[in-house]
Amino acid sequence: TNDTLAAWDRESFFHPSTHLAQHARGETASRIISTASGVYIEDRDGKKMLDAFAGLYCVNVGYGRPEIAEAIAAQAKELAYYHAYVGHGTEASITLAHMIMERAPAGMSKVYFGLGGSDANETNIKLVWYYNNILGRPEKKKIISRWRGYHGSGLMTGSLTGLELFHKKFDLPLAQVVHTEAPYPFRRPDSAMSEREFSAWCAEQLEALIAREGADTIAAFIGEPMLGTGGLVPPPEGYWDAIQEVLAKHDILLIADEVVTGFGRLGTMMGSDHYGLKPDLITIAKGLTSAYAPLSGSIVSEKMWKVLEDGTDENGPIGHGWTYSAHPIGAAAGIANLKLIDSLGLVANAGEVGGYLNAGLADAVGGHAHVGEVRGEGMMAAVEFVKDRESRTFFDASEKTGPRIAAALAERGVIARAMPQGDIIGYAPPLCLTKAEADTVIGATADAVKAVLG
Ligand code: PLP
Repeated sequence: TNDTLAAWDRESFFHPSTHLAQHARGETASRIISTASGVYIEDRDGKKMLDAFAGLYCVNVGYGRPEIAEAIAAQAKELAYYHAYVGHGTEASITLAHMIMERAPAGMSKVYFGLGGSDANETNIKLVWYYNNILGRPEKKKIISRWRGYHGSGLMTGSLTGLELFHKKFDLPLAQVVHTEAPYPFRRPDSAMSEREFSAWCAEQLEALIAREGADTIAAFIGEPMLGTGGLVPPPEGYWDAIQEVLAKHDILLIADEVVTGFGRLGTMMGSDHYGLKPDLITIAKGLTSAYAPLSGSIVSEKMWKVLEDGTDENGPIGHGWTYSAHPIGAAAGIANLKLIDSLGLVANAGEVGGYLNAGLADAVGGHAHVGEVRGEGMMAAVEFVKDRESRTFFDASEKTGPRIAAALAERGVIARAMPQGDIIGYAPPLCLTKAEADTVIGATADAVKAVLG
């Protein structure tokens, strides 16, 4: 029964990203999701909700696609597992690698498979260090990340993540990680700055950080093409050009973390192509399988590949491997998923309906006295709430404005996410969202904002 499951949940289940004490006291409901189809999920109480965050921005093709379920079942029956060490592969993993490279930006060479975004970023940092060690510059080691960037929650990746919650009481960040300014125009230091001036300022801050640390100690810069968990913020105009100029000058590698932006979310196959990034490494996960099975990847550029490959002649096999790397069931899910993204035209739909959703949200709540900004790109959108619009002052966190709006949206049958830092409601629906479904999200948002903030 639901009651038994709720009791077992409190007894035995350690939930991620959860206020443990509140959950133990029963202040957080045990919500047991039982089924889902398209953009709707349904719980065991029969409550159906429009999931405008696609799980954790990962169910790109929408829920309940039989094509992916059948591909997983067929793979499980034929060959549920074999490893990928020492040249082993499966038809599914090799085919998926080929399909990923067909979709990757120019200049990329190979894909290393992992299970989730965090472990793929761990792989990327190890590859950067291996690369610099092979090149005989072991002191070039530090990684620059941005405040408000999100790159996972392991020891290294939690360090890269630029959100306080992920550092506090964990003794993070690790010493090899330094943070630079977030490309967050709404929170720029001087509101008189144009977007281009703000981008130039971000590049100057980066340049100053490199000068303080010493360019010969900095190995790589990691960033999401568009900030995700830090607030769903499209980069200001000219940002990536300005940043890449600084990186090139100091021989610093670029890691594009495309865990969210990869496979269509911005209305282009990859976010790097959307904003003109020329990365040395790309992190992919989430939309690679639309979360039907866990799978991630680190895409390595031709430039790095050559060095890594030559390095093994001197040093022996690369000492980095996971048991489940290139898991055939994940790979089968990935193949079926990428085929669906193509056959359903979901990349174009993300651009078109995403634009409609963004414009609709701006129309519906953009003028509200407590809405500071409505922003987004493709199938990513955010509404940021402020105490005072003119002075851009923020609500005190204790007022829980963001969480209250998310709760009001949930009461109206729409799941959007109260982002972890600031009063920001994030939307990242499945890429198959229709205009009618977007209207439901927009209408519920207008109602929820009115109910909470008047
Ligand atoms: N990178 C980005 C940009 C993410 O948004 C996330 C997760 O949300 C990760 C990495 C970590 O991925 P995972 O939670 O699969 O480890």
